[in-house]
Amino acid sequence: MNLEAHLAPYAARSTASRGRRFSEDSPGSRTEFQRDRDRIIHSTAFRRLEYKTQVFVNHEGDLFRTRLTHSIEVAQIARSIARNLRLNEDLIEAISLAHDLGHTPFGHAGQDALNACMKNHGGFEHNLQSLRVVDALEERYGAFDGLNLMFETREGILKHCSLPNAKKLGDIGQRFIDKKQPTLEAQVANLADEIAYNNHDIDDGLRSGLLTQAQLDEIDFYARHHREVGAAYPGISGRRAIHETIRRMINALIVDLIQASQQRIQQAELKTVDDVRNAPALITFSEPMQAEAASLKRFLRDNLYQHYQVNRMTSKARRIIGELFNAFMGEPKLLPPDYQVAAAEVAQQARKVADYVAGMTDRYAMREHRRLFVVDEI
Ligand code: MG
Repeated sequence: MNLEAHLAPYAARSTASRGRRFSEDSPGSRTEFQRDRDRIIHSTAFRRLEYKTQVFVNHEGDLFRTRLTHSIEVAQIARSIARNLRLNEDLIEAISLAHDLGHTPFGHAGQDALNACMKNHGGFEHNLQSLRVVDALEERYGAFDGLNLMFETREGILKHCSLPNAKKLGDIGQRFIDKKQPTLEAQVANLADEIAYNNHDIDDGLRSGLLTQAQLDEIDFYARHHREVGAAYPGISGRRAIHETIRRMINALIVDLIQASQQRIQQAELKTVDDVRNAPALITFSEPMQAEAASLKRFLRDNLYQHYQVNRMTSKARRIIGELFNAFMGEPKLLPPDYQVAAAEVAQQARKVADYVAGMTDRYAMREHRRLFVVDEI
């Protein structure tokens, strides 16, 4: 049975894939991309996402998004879009669930800190680390390191990549050098990520009290939907009003993205995935919606990500990551044996330390920091 018969001609298909690095028997009752999704869900790195920060550190509250719930929201939004455009939902789900696997503890603060520590040893990029997790770091299968995922899944996970690193990567990095697009599925997952975090960060910002309704009503996009909710349900307030407003914003973004992308796809007269790769980016919002999405982003950057209470956690996170890295580099014998490099090649040892630190959850990093720096902690 052809499980991909319903897909548009320009969708990614298992049968037309560039395949896996190590060849394997066919997955039988599943498509190749379903198998990828299943491998991702069973991975250790996926379970760690539960205890990794999106914006708020895990112990700050039980109801804030974590990287795990964020990834599930991305997959849900991306699949809705995919079904409308007749794209490959299995591939999109795999990319969405794996897209943040390489994130360090403490969100972007952690990534920036680790990148600074790795400055003289090749740097640290979280997208590249996500690829490294699925290509090399997971130890689950007898025949190979990593999860041996399909090319298109790996390509979607590697959302950005610096040119020097792209050159080292071979086929998977080639599109950054040639300035070509990935599959439409990868493009959808990328924008679904943006839709998810812009909206849930507003929700979490309000929940935390770091953002106020009055501030949000100054953004036209939010205010419009907020007014609509007030008109439909007079007297509605509190969390219910916030949720009604945010769900309308998510919906407006998704509907716009589907319509604008559909139009661009039609105009491009795509016949195959190769046409997609050679075309400009086709999954985009309409121009007015691009401006709305940008206004949300700007607002969050200025008011939430730079909030002094967020800055305090960011600064603490930077210190924890920096001190852990330096302690391990200074004394590699503090590392678990698997992470100690026998012939002390500095860059190699640094990469091992980065893998170890990046793999930590927020709370594990804090515990490990206490174990190393607090005298009466064991
Ligand atoms: Mg994300």
